Amino acid sequence: MTMTRIDAAQWRDMMGYLREQHGTICRQWFEELEPLSLDGGVLEIQTSTSVQQNYLQRRCLDPFIESAQHALNRLVSVQFISESQQSAKKNSQASSNGKAPASKPVSVPSPTPEHLLSEFDADQMVLSPDYSFDNFISGPNNRLACAASVAVADQPGTAYNPLFIHGGVGLGKTHLLQAICQKILNQHPDYQILYVSCDAFMNQFIECVRAGKMSEFRHRYRHVDMLVIDDIHFLANKDRSQEEFFHTFNELYQNNKQIVLSSDAPPNEIPQLEERLVSRFNWGLVAPVTRPSFETRIAILKAKAQLRGVMVPPEVIDLIAKRIETNARELEGAITNLQGRAKIEKHPINLALAHQVFGEEPQSKTSQVTLQNIIDAVTGFYSVKLQDLQSRRRHKSVTEPRQVCMWLARKNTRFSLEEIGGYFGGRDHTTVMHSIKIVDQRSEENPRFAAQVRQLNDQIQANHAPA
Ligand code: ADP
Ligand code: MG
Repeated sequence: MTMTRIDAAQWRDMMGYLREQHGTICRQWFEELEPLSLDGGVLEIQTSTSVQQNYLQRRCLDPFIESAQHALNRLVSVQFISESQQSAKKNSQASSNGKAPASKPVSVPSPTPEHLLSEFDADQMVLSPDYSFDNFISGPNNRLACAASVAVADQPGTAYNPLFIHGGVGLGKTHLLQAICQKILNQHPDYQILYVSCDAFMNQFIECVRAGKMSEFRHRYRHVDMLVIDDIHFLANKDRSQEEFFHTFNELYQNNKQIVLSSDAPPNEIPQLEERLVSRFNWGLVAPVTRPSFETRIAILKAKAQLRGVMVPPEVIDLIAKRIETNARELEGAITNLQGRAKIEKHPINLALAHQVFGEEPQSKTSQVTLQNIIDAVTGFYSVKLQDLQSRRRHKSVTEPRQVCMWLARKNTRFSLEEIGGYFGGRDHTTVMHSIKIVDQRSEENPRFAAQVRQLNDQIQANHAPA
């Protein structure tokens, strides 16, 4: 058997090719990968963790093989091996001076008897090394869910049980679930975690009922240290699965085993969920994740760009954060999109390219906002009349909304200071400037006022977002 290595230049070639041809799968942590040996046509690549190993083996194998073949100019296959597998292999080689144990992918350690492994393994969710706490941006929209997840990872079974995270799509539920798994596995590699989708749970249940293998099923689900089920709302309507899950839950809970669940709605809003399950889901902590604010969107975009090792200039980050307000998945999609376009155009990511992808700066958006829109929002909010705003009255009940109007007009329209002053009762431009300053100052001093202004501003803009 020929035992060779691949040299540094070949490795560089290979990773360069991968980045060139498959840039969107590349992550910064790929830097930690190390070529081990090229043995009988198999290139062994070492990863730092078993999560990385399993992820690469199951999700990225083909691009790596293609890149290896390109760099080495011959047919090779690729095998990922984690550092711990590698040292175990070395030890056993040293002791038995012979056969290395076949390296089977270790993801989340499985408590299942060997003969059941393959059958269940296909449904086991693959942890993504990207979905760690380090890569999760905590903001006002997910603070509680994030803090609770960290607490659960540090003290499974005792901090909050069950932990129930709910919210709309793309808001980080799966990310948090996986971060919990990874943090625990980093600290306790032997911890037995079962992490499945709700679909997998139900399919396995149905399959085991059909095949008369319920004892295996129960063994599988009830002898773990932690059970994590993603998208548990799919249990809605599934009576027999709910029944089985109820007993699984009880068994684990009584044994102080951690249960972590995610859902698109809080327990009592999941339609057709048995009352006894609703109440159990509420026993621990129920934590929402909601839409990220502008600041959080900026932070998420920066983190994603860094993780992928792509340069995205701040003005482009800003543009995306303004355009995409829905969720983190879409933000990430925007970066992938830009990355793809940059490759085709053979051009680095810049504002011009971003405009090509997302359309021109929504000038129309600002110019579309009329003074009437602002008046409507402000008079509605403060319950004042337009005549009062345009009058000379100086009572606070009128001056405050008037100042806010001027501030909003300056921000959302292209009217000059003179025009704005003229509209609001024939005031001159210094009055408008003064009003803007007052609003800014008060926003700084008074968070409630700041929130009101922001809300009005959002309301005005939302009504004029391009369709
Ligand atoms: P969900 O399960 O709620 O539908 P995911 O967890 O799959 O959403 O998140 C979708 C994508 O957005 C993932 O790539 C995830 O990493 C990313 N994401 C969501 N929230 C955050 C966050 N707060 N910080 C960083 N990335 C996030
Ligand atoms: Mg999810």
